Amino acid sequence: MKLHEYQAKEIFARYSIPVQKGAVVRHPEEILGLDLQYPVVLKAQVLVGGRGKAGGIKLAEKPSESVEKARAILGMDIKGERVTRLLVAEAVDIQQEYYLAFTVDRATRCLVVVASASGGIDIEEVARRTPEKIVKEPIDPFLGFRPFHARQIGRRLGFADAHLGAFARIAESLYQLTTDLDAELAEINPLAVAGGQVIAVDAKLIIDDNALYRQKGLPENEELTGLERDARTHDLSYVELDGDIAVIGNGAGLVMSTLDMLDHFGGRPANVLDVGGGASEEAMKQALDIVTRKPGVRALFINIFGGITRCDDIARGLVANLPQVPMSVRLTGTNEEEGRQILQQAGISASVDPEEAAKKAVVLARGQG
Ligand code: GDP
Ligand code: MN
Repeated sequence: MKLHEYQAKEIFARYSIPVQKGAVVRHPEEILGLDLQYPVVLKAQVLVGGRGKAGGIKLAEKPSESVEKARAILGMDIKGERVTRLLVAEAVDIQQEYYLAFTVDRATRCLVVVASASGGIDIEEVARRTPEKIVKEPIDPFLGFRPFHARQIGRRLGFADAHLGAFARIAESLYQLTTDLDAELAEINPLAVAGGQVIAVDAKLIIDDNALYRQKGLPENEELTGLERDARTHDLSYVELDGDIAVIGNGAGLVMSTLDMLDHFGGRPANVLDVGGGASEEAMKQALDIVTRKPGVRALFINIFGGITRCDDIARGLVANLPQVPMSVRLTGTNEEEGRQILQQAGISASVDPEEAAKKAVVLARGQG
């Protein structure tokens, strides 16, 4: 789960990592009521990177200018995400930009610290062009990241004595919060030397989804749409896409090949829901409700290969909650005959051949059924 910059900075502040004074606004006029020193920096709060390049970050010298620039950024579309909030922060006078992050490294199977004196820019770019400018060290999970490690990294980045202590404290705190919050990435880019202090100008925090059950008190997950959240509460795995055919299947492999099939026949999936193994009538009811509630759905494709999941359960769930949109059903496997009979009594014909059913779904979505 990704956090917004302002949310990450609230957590940083709790760990004594210096951040700029600032506030979040939803409307430009709110800026006039803020008690902030000018100049300020206006920052679009979206969950994608590279906001600066996309025009989502602007400096303002005075309140009127600030309101005007806020109008331009709020409502902007940055890489597909609409800007609804702005972080307004007291601007700092940056002398140098560094990069500092803790992240999970799959190759070494542990946390690594990644740091560079070439911060402020895309770190992947630095890694490609000048890998020697990046310091990357695995962290022994039993020893942890110690003060001497922090100072060693600081020295390698070329921090002067005056700032070495400050850098080391920030690095130790960032490590501490990474482990406390089960973060898979905690990143500061840039970590700046500004006005005689070392300060986190940007903040990125991604919490490991597998640890969310034990991470209480975190902000709401904003990566999910309303329907994706509903699906989670019913333990259904649901993904939103941008086409017009709603898809229900059982099992990740089947579901993915279903998407491929639709694509092959010229259809576009609106979403996909995996009812999983042993889906009950009740799960089927929730599944139907969720996939068809998405706006723009023109047809429904149900692709079930019964194993642990029984075709009669699926059929009963479907008949009891008949969707409003035209549908194509493929049903085969365990208790196929019973399932087929239940559907037939409700006037629904199901096919055994997935390709035939996929083609039918595409035709239905075009309104030609
Ligand atoms: P990103 O583009 O999404 O990574 O957003 P950042 O918060 O990292 O900002 C991008 C760039 O804008 C930074 O690397 C800085 O160069 C600049 N910037 C951001 N905040 C300030 C500030 O307070 N003062 C100055 N001088 N520049 C800033
Ligand atoms: Mn940044």
